[in-house]
Amino acid sequence: MKEIKSYDTDEIDQAIICPYCKYHYSDSHDVLAPEQDNKETIECENCGKKFVAEVVTTVDYFTNRNCELNGENHEFIPNKILGNNDKKCSKCSLILYHYDEVKK
Ligand SMILES: [Zn+2]
Ligand SMILES: [Zn+2]
Repeated sequence: MKEIKSYDTDEIDQAIICPYCKYHYSDSHDVLAPEQDNKETIECENCGKKFVAEVVTTVDYFTNRNCELNGENHEFIPNKILGNNDKKCSKCSLILYHYDEVKK
């Protein structure tokens, strides 16, 4: 018979929290670098118990519509939220910013 060991997660937070005494590591990034799959045994600097801390990185996907990729022309309309000279394409998410050149 096979035995598989798997740990349940005790604490999930933006910072490392000791699962024994709930000590909050304000310097979590120094204790365990926030790199993917980074895992380390940590001895709590508060209660002295050992626990495993693991970095979990979440993935975000951003998507943009793009007229040019689809061989279409942009339809720029003034966008009051952005500013008087700035225009946003109504078909895709492209924004054209216009800056006044500062003369020296
Ligand atoms: Zn602790
Ligand atoms: Zn467009």
